[in-house]
Amino acid sequence: MLELKNIKKYYQVGDTVTKALDGVSVAFREKEFVAILGASGSGKTTLLNVIGGLDEYDSGDLVINGKSTKKFKATDWDAYRNNSVGFIFQSYNLISHLGIIDNVELGMTLSGVSNAEKRQRAEEALTRVGLREHMHKKPNQLSGGQMQRVAIARALANDPDILLCDEPTGALDTETSVQIMELIQELSKEKLVIMVTHNPELAHQYANRIIEFSDGQIRDDSRPYNESAQSDTFKLKRTKMSFWTALKLSFTNIRTKKGRTFLTAFASSIGIISIGVVLALSGGFQKQIDETQSKTLAQYPITISQQATDMQAASAENPNKTKKLSKKGTQITAKVSAQEKATHINKIDQKYLNYVNDINPDLSNNIGYTRLVGMNLIRKVDGKVQPVTFSSAKSNSSNQSSAAAMAATTGVGTSSFPKQLDNSKENFLKKNYRLLSGAYPKAATDVVLVVKSDNTININALNNLGFDVKDGTKLDFNKIVGTKIQMVMNNDYYQQLPTGNFIPSTDVSSLYDKPNNLTLNISGIIRARGSSNMDLLASGIAYSDDLAKEVISKNQDSAIVKAQKASAVNVMTNQKMDSTTKQTFLSTLGGSSLPYSIMIYPNNFKDKDKVLTYLDKWNKGKSRADKITYLDLAGTVTNLTGGLMDAITYVLIAFAAISLITSMIMIGILTYTSVLERTKEIGVLRALGARSRDVTRVFDAETFILGISSGLLGIIIAELLTFPINSLLYNLTELKNVAILDPTQALILVLVSTVLTMIGGHIPARMAAKKDAAIALRAE
Ligand code: ADP
Ligand code: MG
Repeated sequence: MLELKNIKKYYQVGDTVTKALDGVSVAFREKEFVAILGASGSGKTTLLNVIGGLDEYDSGDLVINGKSTKKFKATDWDAYRNNSVGFIFQSYNLISHLGIIDNVELGMTLSGVSNAEKRQRAEEALTRVGLREHMHKKPNQLSGGQMQRVAIARALANDPDILLCDEPTGALDTETSVQIMELIQELSKEKLVIMVTHNPELAHQYANRIIEFSDGQIRDDSRPYNESAQSDTFKLKRTKMSFWTALKLSFTNIRTKKGRTFLTAFASSIGIISIGVVLALSGGFQKQIDETQSKTLAQYPITISQQATDMQAASAENPNKTKKLSKKGTQITAKVSAQEKATHINKIDQKYLNYVNDINPDLSNNIGYTRLVGMNLIRKVDGKVQPVTFSSAKSNSSNQSSAAAMAATTGVGTSSFPKQLDNSKENFLKKNYRLLSGAYPKAATDVVLVVKSDNTININALNNLGFDVKDGTKLDFNKIVGTKIQMVMNNDYYQQLPTGNFIPSTDVSSLYDKPNNLTLNISGIIRARGSSNMDLLASGIAYSDDLAKEVISKNQDSAIVKAQKASAVNVMTNQKMDSTTKQTFLSTLGGSSLPYSIMIYPNNFKDKDKVLTYLDKWNKGKSRADKITYLDLAGTVTNLTGGLMDAITYVLIAFAAISLITSMIMIGILTYTSVLERTKEIGVLRALGARSRDVTRVFDAETFILGISSGLLGIIIAELLTFPINSLLYNLTELKNVAILDPTQALILVLVSTVLTMIGGHIPARMAAKKDAAIALRAE
């Protein structure tokens, strides 16, 4: 049934050629117990490996059941080893991380035997070798003899035709050796058993044929067999390992080295950790930057004022020119100051206002206007009518009589809230301010009281509104909400004296019921939302730009405005005025429909640049005097933080990339080490008929497990790290919750870890698969 024809196998190392098999010709019977005796190094193991298809022969032919193996492909050899041959080694070669039953089942697993049948056959085989009670142990819980019995059971389980035993008793004591020999002898009654031994006594006692072997040649054969084997139909079932089996094999292997696997996963998760942290941080920082940007932009909007400083003109001042003026001599030189030279009057007209109003609402949703309009306000306090103002400035009671003068002297802050460019979007107040009491303003005549984050309010704002409060006085919301204020029109408010001068009416109570009055209503109390970056409004009364516009439209043609337009001096005080002062005063009286300044609040710095480009377009081709300059205080901050953040991001990304590469290399090395370490196991798997692809699978499965666990471990640690990082950052910068790991990013990271790990481990896995099975088995 098995015949070797002039088989030669030479090993060449350097210049020396070892003739391991030097023309071996021998035939074996279907059932016999052949013992091969020979000195160490004579080529016995090589012979067994060649017979078992673990090692290739150089020349000659191995004929199995009449079929030449010259044209055998790798898969044919795999199938042959799995179906027809059982190996028993001196060093047992059990896979230590698998249980005894699993070891026995492994060969059947490879040939695709069903689970139930596998278990049954494994139990039968183990019973046969007398290990029924030890079935559920691990190999390292057995004695040497018992382990060899397991190896025999493993060889038997797949019911092979040939049993190849390489010094099976070499590591056993005499008593155990005898037991094993008896077992093998019994098996030889139904199979061909070829046993290599260097113990002639045992050989002579149990074997029925003895072959003396030396220097790769058969010296003596006690019972030669010359009958040429007849050609049977020789069919072999292909072997195949499922990925699931590979996964299970790797999993049990990994489980036996929990500590090391954990360390490995931890080490290779460092890359994932660092990327996770970088992502969490950069995402968080981006959010912070966006917030800071809109905060900065809320504080420093693009401002277009009627009076601006032309930065270019200011810096154009050439110091070299002034040098030419002599320091000596007897003359002085009159000089306009640099600051004054740089003062630029922006001619803001309706056309420009329309241009600004056309800014893309996606870039900037809010535009604020400052109008120097004064409001003539009176209120009934305890039945007594008294003048009031919306100002938060400290005022002398004597001065309070002229609200208009008040506004002119204190200047007007941002008491009117920004106009919402895009009406479809949320209202500015609702978005940025929380309603504490009452209602958000609906009509133009609805005004709101803005309080600070701690519900305090500037005492002057309350006093100016006619509330008699001292430092620390508490007022109920309902005392304020619903308060009615009368706004008196100029023609009712100002009286013209016979001299032609105008003075505010002294009898304020008579003004209270004038039909032209606008009744203003404090509709609610609001406070900036914690999340809002746009808390533009100072504490005190805030009103809509529509109200300001309405006052202007009503007062534009009033007597005092007309008179003031015609006069070079102040119509109230007769003071002389230059054109700027006159213009300002006219505005205060409601005589100008144009705002004093425009504040544009872009959403972020990028959008700000686009808005600036848009504003620059207006100036194209215009003369210097007609140009409209803006103030961009936030611009100076942009360049600073922008560049810095870019640099930091690049550094972080570089770090993350380095750790990713490092962890990939590490996985490669670890898989390689694992390959080296499991060389024996590879040999055993191959001896049991595993294809080289199956071996690759085992290691791929291992790196798969490793990749997933290091990915999971990585994101868990990264997530945990965000807590100390956040508290550290909070201590350093007062920024809350900067690092936040995005779940989608976390999932992607696990995937990346798995894929990269598998890539890193695949090369060593392929190396493992290519390993020569015979060499693998010789490894210690
Ligand atoms: P035995 O089992 O009889 O002790 P072996 O079959 O293991 O002998 O080895 C036979 C000879 O072949 C020895 O001289 C050994 O050194 C040599 N040999 C075996 N395998 C290799 C190999 N992979 N490369 C080089 N020489 C080898
Ligand atoms: Mg040997």
